[in-house]
Amino acid sequence: MDIKKVSPELSVSGQIMPQDVAIAASRGFRSIIINRPDGEASDQPEHQSIVDAATRSGLSVRYLPVVSGNVTDADATAFQKAMAEMPAPILAFCRTGTRSITLWALAKAGHLSSDAILSTAEDAGYSLSGLSARLDANEQKQGAERSTASHDIVIIGGGAGGIATAGSILKRRKDADIAVVEPRSEHYYQPGWTLVGGGVFKREQTERSMAQVMPKGVQWIRSACAGFDPEHNQVILEDGTRISYKVLVVSPGLKLDWDAVEGLKDTLGKNGVTSNYLFDMAPYTWELVKSLKRGRALFTQPPMPIKCAGAPQKAMYLACDAWTRSGRLKDIEVEFHNSGGALFGVADYVPSLMKYVEKYGINLCFNETLVAVDGPSQTAIFEVKDGDGNVTRQTREFDMLHVCPPQTALEFVKNSPLANDAGWTDISGETLQHTQYGNVFGLGDAGSTPNAKTAAAVRKQAPVAAHNVLRVLDGRAPNAVYNGYGSCPLTVERGKIVLAEFAYGGALDPSFPKWILDGTKPTRAAWFLKEKMLPAIYFDQMLKGIEFLAKPKILPHSPTAHDAQEACDFNGSDHKAA
Ligand code: FAD
Repeated sequence: MDIKKVSPELSVSGQIMPQDVAIAASRGFRSIIINRPDGEASDQPEHQSIVDAATRSGLSVRYLPVVSGNVTDADATAFQKAMAEMPAPILAFCRTGTRSITLWALAKAGHLSSDAILSTAEDAGYSLSGLSARLDANEQKQGAERSTASHDIVIIGGGAGGIATAGSILKRRKDADIAVVEPRSEHYYQPGWTLVGGGVFKREQTERSMAQVMPKGVQWIRSACAGFDPEHNQVILEDGTRISYKVLVVSPGLKLDWDAVEGLKDTLGKNGVTSNYLFDMAPYTWELVKSLKRGRALFTQPPMPIKCAGAPQKAMYLACDAWTRSGRLKDIEVEFHNSGGALFGVADYVPSLMKYVEKYGINLCFNETLVAVDGPSQTAIFEVKDGDGNVTRQTREFDMLHVCPPQTALEFVKNSPLANDAGWTDISGETLQHTQYGNVFGLGDAGSTPNAKTAAAVRKQAPVAAHNVLRVLDGRAPNAVYNGYGSCPLTVERGKIVLAEFAYGGALDPSFPKWILDGTKPTRAAWFLKEKMLPAIYFDQMLKGIEFLAKPKILPHSPTAHDAQEACDFNGSDHKAA
């Protein structure tokens, strides 16, 4: 099978056989589009045999036959619809792949420039120069039809922060005019990935279709945001379209920077290298844990900030627990290589964690940053900083390597007027309002607020953002405040969790009285909460604007008339907040 990647969502190939379908599934494809009509050649399998094989492998599949040399606009529209509806990544094939990539090109005309389409096809090994006049015509037609849409509230990102904020706004004002800009067709409950890597959840439990979580009444703009023009109250989409807003909410999450570790991307998912930070990869963590009988297992943590700072060690404790239960831990050397100098940022939780470190015999290696991985030789290279700040390189061989990747702000946020020096959306730690643009709010992992980047933080931030967005929309100053709450359920063994809950400055901020749940100790109650309750709290409450233990704190004093006036002045540079 000679598969050519066209985009993160789509790859194309020539004719595949039914036995190739399982291989495609193992490479991460989730859907197949069959563009070759039956009966073109005698050695060609019937499309139904591919459909059956895809069904057996759990892949979505669609038969969209296209006659060679006669790809119509209707074919391209059907292909575009399939791409929008089917889970990505998708593998489309015909005899050589040319019809499939032609369909993609026509579907993208008007969204990408003709030059970009032709050079992408060229990079994949297909020359579509004969199509350029048709692409140009489509581009012009689309451009003429494209008008600047406008919404009262535009939300960037349909993840935890974006959907929860939309839900909370609609709970307060059911006819609010909201658009959510989100390119993905899937929505992930990422906190569940630790349990997938620990063999407790199936990865399917952590995924819903985006359409399913998108609140009713919200307009979903299925595109990626490429930039911000806050002086004109507009966002710019990847195809150049501009959307105007009265109030903007920025919540696109962060970038997992796999390229920052040399060699990592090439070996991820093989050679014993895994990460719970990817939906597709978390099941491989559990496979490795189950299959490792002896040797060395390394777990790494990059420099802060990262989302869910406890996740790297959660993966390690659950692996150690499984090896304890199977009697193999004595034959496995476990090392935790942490760029930082402490096991956990809030000292109150460290004694309980240290008991598990000792129980499992984990070797803690602080101030050690993973910088390169050689998969085939199973070696990891670390930069090790000593007490005087001298840095040396050390190599460790491994049989299993769980990597938490370095994390940064997304480029389109970093390069925008909304970013602070570090690239994060520059927002107030309390009101979540942008420090320069009064009609812009931010929350979640993309925000500059110094809380722990967690869905738990988002659960408390979204109601604050929703309340303040509506205040500003109504010409009033924000008066709801967030206290920096974040939470990290540290899965120290299967069945027990140390439930870290804290606010700004590391102040403990427990949700329950100590006699119900003492978060500084490992408890079964906290495990029950994580395994049985939190997924439902997330999907059925938080994303729907039901603010369980998350009502926003409203400041008692009304804002002054002056504040209100400033919040009201949206237009031009006068809208900058005090
Ligand atoms: P996300 O939920 O990541 O959503 C961002 C959305 O923006 C995505 O849908 C993305 O497609 C979209 N987007 C990206 N770029 C663009 C663009 N250009 N235009 C438009 N949209 C865009 N949190 C906890 O509270 N407890 C835990 O136990 C926990 N464990 C975790 C374990 C792991 C392994 C991981 C990876 C995370 C964990 N988290 C946990 C963290 C939690 O999942 C995140 O903090 C939370 O999802 C952040 O929400 P968000 O909306 O900021 O980002």
